Formats: sequence, structure tokens, C-alpha cells
Amino acid sequence: MLEKIKALEKIALQLEPASLERKKMREAVVHYSEGFLDKIDTLKAYNTTTDKGKQILDAPIQEQGIDIETILNLIEHNIDRPGLNPASGGHLAYIPGGGIYPSSLGDFLADVTNRYAGVFYANPGAVRVENLLLRWMCDLFGFPPEAGGNLTSGGSMANLIAIVAARDFKQLKSRDFEKVVIYSTAQVHHCTLKAIKISGLYEAIQRDIPMDEHFRMDAKALEKAILEDQQNGLIPFMVMASAGTTDTGAIDPLDAVADICQAQDLWFHVDGAYGGFFVLSEEVKAKFKGIERADSIVIDPHKGLFLPYGSGALLVRNVKGLYHSQHMEANYLQDSFDDIEELSPADLSPELTKPFRGLRLWLPLQLFGVAPFRAALSEKIWLCRYFYEAIQKIDGFEVGTYPDLSVMTYRYVPKTGDANAYNLDLNNRVKEEGSVFISSTTINGLVYLRLAVLSFRTHLHTINRLLEVLTSLTKA
Ligand SMILES: *Cc1c(COP(=O)(O)O)cnc(C)c1O
Repeated sequence: MLEKIKALEKIALQLEPASLERKKMREAVVHYSEGFLDKIDTLKAYNTTTDKGKQILDAPIQEQGIDIETILNLIEHNIDRPGLNPASGGHLAYIPGGGIYPSSLGDFLADVTNRYAGVFYANPGAVRVENLLLRWMCDLFGFPPEAGGNLTSGGSMANLIAIVAARDFKQLKSRDFEKVVIYSTAQVHHCTLKAIKISGLYEAIQRDIPMDEHFRMDAKALEKAILEDQQNGLIPFMVMASAGTTDTGAIDPLDAVADICQAQDLWFHVDGAYGGFFVLSEEVKAKFKGIERADSIVIDPHKGLFLPYGSGALLVRNVKGLYHSQHMEANYLQDSFDDIEELSPADLSPELTKPFRGLRLWLPLQLFGVAPFRAALSEKIWLCRYFYEAIQKIDGFEVGTYPDLSVMTYRYVPKTGDANAYNLDLNNRVKEEGSVFISSTTINGLVYLRLAVLSFRTHLHTINRLLEVLTSLTKA
């Protein structure tokens, strides 16, 4: 038996490379990532390739490993080249991604030490970091001391947890689901609709409230709908407002919606996954008035704080509601029950074992301070306003509504022919050119191009590049 154990140990020890081996791997990875960052400004924002990374399939998982150089080569050609480059400042489509460098070092440290941040008893320091970050975010939105939340993998998960918490807080019974009403606009993010489905509330009535000409929820129409529903014996339950819609960047009239939710006793949820962190920018802070009265807010550090993908957050006005929705006890966790100086993330989310997400956010905030984040967010606002003016000076272009934040729509109106088809084709031609990447949407039957400025690498020269590309591609 001892022979057997020793023989297995010898092979298993490959999982623990010695210092020199670690150095070799680490230096190869650092060398590759430095090469990537050194040329980031010249890499395409979208790379159309014929093979679409197919060679990755030529390297199946096998019993024996391969060397790090071969692996990095596979990554470079099949993963980092084809398709969208979210790390590029030229990514001006959908909601652009981030990837500030110190977050990767935070992830590196969290992974090497593998701290467990789910339960206070297991790692009080890590849990304090996560709670400190959540407190900082709650303060940004003017939430009271009894507020709290959870660091999630992204906005979709945060919206799902919020809807489940609201469902439990309002003690909805499944036999009543058919009478429950949820209010939003047609511009609400589709992940909230998915969350309604996953939370079991797919039988609930989802009311689309009309919008004003800026695609903001019409508060009067909301109030009218709620009162009518009450009279008809239905159960008005929650309003899902947006603080920055994905399509046009519109902020719903949060203060007016808060009044209505308060008077009619509805849960007031705000999806700020795209726009929430703009509360840091003095340029637009006032537009968020009323958000401090929300019951729950979703924000996405991997959007508005430029983190790499994998960081969302849910803030709840009274954290007890979230706790009662997510807390569960098990005998095998009994050793942790008494050490409750701080709330544990595992009691505020469906996740038990999870990565220590706090470090990738805490480390850059400590290292840089808040000031550069604030400046970058204001810069994005002004870049969008700059484009809004500049694009109208190019022959043939017209704009949609003035941007609330850093997303706006515009389109080219050809003198003859189908404008929708023209703009879809123009969108494709921008993609093929590749130095910048934009996307399109359809509003009231018209195809629009979208500009979304949120990458920390997008600066004035990037917007000028987009203007140049659009000028040259539409020249007669
Ligand atoms: C991106 C986005 C979401 C979804 O968040 P993920 O982090 O992609 O899961 C939800 N709502 C809005 C408004 C968004 O922009």
C-alpha cells in the first residue's frame, strides 16, 4: 500500500511545481501579457478571421501535459486574435469592457493564496474587505446604515438575486403569481426578464409602461397602471427602473418612481448595471436623484469601474431582506454559526464557495484612489457629447436623443434607397475595417448605430478615429 501511495504521490506532485518551474511559467505568461499590452493600441477592436479559432480543437485534453509556450501560442492565435477585443479602447459597442491591470494582480493573489471569502469565520479579513466595498458603494448611492449587499459575477446574477429577495420580502405565494404585476419599460435589460422567469415569476403580468421621447419611463402612466391594477384585484409588486438603459443610456425618472413605489408599497428596483457608477461623475450625478430611495440597486464594476469581466454587485436598502431570502443553515457548517461579527457573503447569495472577488476591486481602489475613476467616467460623458456634435457635421448623419450618459444613437440617411439596410451594411463595414467596433439597434422600426463609450482605454483620439472611419465609409 505504501508503495502505491508513493508512486501516486510522485505523479500528483506535478501539480505543485517547484520555484524554478513556477518562474518559467510565470515569466512566459508575463512576457506574453506585456506583449499584448504593449501593442494594445494597434490591435484591432474586431478581427474577422476565416478559421474563427478552430485550431484550438487540434489540442484536445490529454493524459500528458504540453509546455507553456505551446499553450500561449494556442491562446494567442485562437483566443486572443479572432472576434471582439474587449480590451481595446476601440470597443464602442454594446457596453464596452474594462480590464484595468491591477485587478489581474488582485486575482493572481487571491488565486495563489486561495482565500475563502464566503463565511466570516473562515476568513474574517476577506469578508471585511467585501463588506467594506459594499458599504462604500451603498454610501455612493446614499443608502442608509442598514443597507448591504453582495459581490456577484455580474449584473445578470445581481438582478436575479434582487428579484428573488423582493419576491420573498413581499411574501408572494405561488398560487397568486398570476395576479402579480411587475412594471418596467420596453427598454429594460433582457436579463431582468430572464431573472423573472428563473425566479418562478414567469406567470406574473409584466407591464410595459410607456416612455417619453427620451425613452424614459412615463411616471404618470406608471401610477395610472398601478391604480388600475389594484382596482382590478391584481397585486402590483415591483417596479424595475433603469439607471442607464443599454440601448440609449436613458435614466428613468427615479425620484418620481420612488414616490409612487412608496405610496403604493411596491418594491423599487433600479438596474444600474451600465450606468450606476456614473454617480461618481459630478457632470451627471444629479440625474440619479431618487436612487437613494430604491429597495435594491444593481451595479457592475466590470462596466462602470473598468474591471475585467466577473464583477457585479447587488445593493439592498435593508440587508435583512436579502439575508432572510438567502440564509440557510446546515449541520456541517455549524462551527461557523457563532462567529457573526460581520454578515457573511454566503448568507446573502446563492453561492457558497466562490472566488474572493473583493480583492480585484479593493486593490485597484487602494492603489489608485477614487479620483482617476471619477475623471475617467466624466471623460466618457464628454466624449459622448463630443461625438454627438461632431457626427452631425458629417454629411448625411442624424442623431437620436441627446445622451443622458455615455451611450447614444445615430444613423446615416442615404439620399436614395433603404436607410435601414444601409445602416446595417455600414455597421458591417466598420466591423470589417476593424480599428473600431460599433453595434446597431432598432428603435421604433428604424435601424440606428450605437456609440457606447465606457472603456477606460477610449480617449479623444479613439472617437476621432471613429469619425474618420464613418466619414470615409459614407463618402459618395
Ligand atoms: C450589462 C447589463 C446587464 C447585465 O449585466 P451582466 O454583467 O452582463 O450580467 C443588466 N442591465 C444592464 C442595464 C446592462 O447594461
